[in-house]
Amino acid sequence: MDCKKLIEESSRYIMNTYNRFPIVLRKGRGIKVWSFDGKEYLDFVGGVAVNILGHCHPRVVVAIQKQAQRLLHVSNYYHIEPQIRLAKLLVEHSFADKAFFCNSGAEANEAAIKLARKYAKENIGTDRFEIITAKNSFHGRTLATITATGQEKFQKGFEPLVPGFSYVPFNDVPAISGAITKNTCAILLEPIQGEGGVKVPDHDYLKKVRELCNEHNLLLILDEVQTGMGRTGKFFAYEHFGITPDIMTIAKGLGGGVPIGAMLATDKAASGFQPGNHATTFGGNPLVCTAAIATIETLLEDGFILDQCNRMGKYLQERLENLKDTFPNLIVDVRGLGLLLGMELTTEGDPIVRACLEKGVLINCTTGNVLRFIPPLIVQHKDIDYLMNVLEKIFERLQ
Ligand SMILES: *Cc1c(COP(=O)(O)O)cnc(C)c1O
Repeated sequence: MDCKKLIEESSRYIMNTYNRFPIVLRKGRGIKVWSFDGKEYLDFVGGVAVNILGHCHPRVVVAIQKQAQRLLHVSNYYHIEPQIRLAKLLVEHSFADKAFFCNSGAEANEAAIKLARKYAKENIGTDRFEIITAKNSFHGRTLATITATGQEKFQKGFEPLVPGFSYVPFNDVPAISGAITKNTCAILLEPIQGEGGVKVPDHDYLKKVRELCNEHNLLLILDEVQTGMGRTGKFFAYEHFGITPDIMTIAKGLGGGVPIGAMLATDKAASGFQPGNHATTFGGNPLVCTAAIATIETLLEDGFILDQCNRMGKYLQERLENLKDTFPNLIVDVRGLGLLLGMELTTEGDPIVRACLEKGVLINCTTGNVLRFIPPLIVQHKDIDYLMNVLEKIFERLQ
């Protein structure tokens, strides 16, 4: 297959919304992917925190194959067996009592915003609709979620935005306290800001936000679209911080590669939705739920993958710290939890991402100067050693 021709046709037929790298991927197994021209890559992007079990994990593939033969899609007018099993699995392994299924992270956040408004109007006060979010956050690309997102670059050109959002600096409890008004209904936060440059808050931040929510009768919504599904070394990131939210959104890793999102909530918060209030045609369909069940069962089985995530996260973080010590003029910070790691540079990250691509390693850069490492949780020492070898040579050249 001619890669050059494919890329030409990509620009010709596909809407121009992404700056894509000049490769076309054809096949993946574990942490490796291969392009149409036969080149092999180690994938430290993992579909942006999606492929938690690596590419084409056999248990997920077989589950999808079997379900595809049995039943692909039916309407939510009827009870859906894989959806019920998935909801039960998520409820049994989290703070939540109820699940709502949709198709992406943005949709899960959109559902959370609607549920918070509906619940608050009915249970706290008709004038309670405002949601406080963090500056530098990322919550998705629909109109309400770009509004929730505390970064102007995602909002510019799409005004007027959705009313009812206010923004505070991340990791700043007094700022939240000062932003609460008589109209506030909820606080929406990522436990760790992913797209915003892998920003980890102080250990007691979420605990103090939880206390503020209790004091003022506000809902705490955690966006775990990126941090959930084992990414930080626990099933969900909130488990690190000794608190539980009222509502939580997940997506990315949930389906092991198929598009599925979910909003989880306590019974109390979930009571805000009644039949007819919210829906989506494809949400929780048999195919994607079956893939998610296989993904979660594999992830949680005997704890091996979460252990691997913790061990490899620690190892990669140590290696990146060493690189920082060697190149203190180029690298200013290494941070993150589990296998959600960021390395902040004094220079643009894009040339480094491109140099890695040349050497057969896929990495990502966010906010212009933070290299982000979000590989499958099954990554091994030898993969990290390969990446570090490539990075060392690139930084030596840059020096
Ligand atoms: C990726 C992401 C989203 C958006 O998810 P989509 O599936 O792209 O809509 C929302 N919140 C966070 C924290 C994310 O990382």
